[in-house]
Amino acid sequence: MTYKVHCGFIRHGDQSGVLVTFEDVTHLETAEQMRRDFVANVSHELRTPLTALLGFIETLQGPAKDDAKARERFLGIMANEAGRMGRLVKDLLSLSQVESQERIRPDSAVNLNELVGSVIRNLSHLSEKSQVTVIADLPDQPVVVPADGDQIRQVLTNLAENAIKYGGDGGTVTLSLSVMERDPALRGPAARLSVQDTGPGIDLIHIPRLTERFYRVDSHRSREMGGTGLGLAIVKHIVNRHRGRLKIDSEPGQGSCFTVILPL
Ligand code: ADP
Repeated sequence: MTYKVHCGFIRHGDQSGVLVTFEDVTHLETAEQMRRDFVANVSHELRTPLTALLGFIETLQGPAKDDAKARERFLGIMANEAGRMGRLVKDLLSLSQVESQERIRPDSAVNLNELVGSVIRNLSHLSEKSQVTVIADLPDQPVVVPADGDQIRQVLTNLAENAIKYGGDGGTVTLSLSVMERDPALRGPAARLSVQDTGPGIDLIHIPRLTERFYRVDSHRSREMGGTGLGLAIVKHIVNRHRGRLKIDSEPGQGSCFTVILPL
């Protein structure tokens, strides 16, 4: 706990004294600490690919100057590192945009059946490369929610991309959509979108922290897969903006299921 102490001299009639008040500023300290951690994390995440890029540029200007094979290989790695920086900047911008809109409730009519189909089509290159089968389990009736279509598309894309990336080659990813007459937490009718994979699952201790910025279960694997560590943080903010909720069910060896529940 951190307190700010305020002192003042007061006089009432012929009586006088000193008034001391204590203000609890713990929340401000915590917010400031979070901001400092975030800046440190962003700097670290940007510095790693930048250092690699500078190293390869130096090598290409010096020892590998006339080595055509090395040049080709190094340029490939450099393109990868530059791509990583690009994805990080894109995710940081998305995060800051969603945060700035958190109080504005989106209200366009978004057809979730169409959105699921479109996300699956857009990710077909990734699923084919990993030989992952992606299945859509949709109701016959269209499910339409008041939402920001681009943001819900981003939520589904991030979750499906993770399921394909971490679900393991040759697995199955199922995107299901259904309607609940009443969600107990939202206290009303809701649409339920879930992304289920047949991957290795996640240990229980990691689950509450998965939506923190830059939190990764296995940093090496996330970087290898081109992850920025911001995907689920973006998902959480978008779901909050829609007054919905995110549920994560996972167990080692049993796959993972990420469910987004949105008020209808
Ligand atoms: P990243 O860019 O690292 O994928 P995310 O915020 O999207 O960042 O996810 C955070 C971490 O959660 C990942 O690094 C990964 O360890 C874990 N994770 C996310 N989705 C899955 C999944 N479907 N199966 C297993 N682990 C997952």
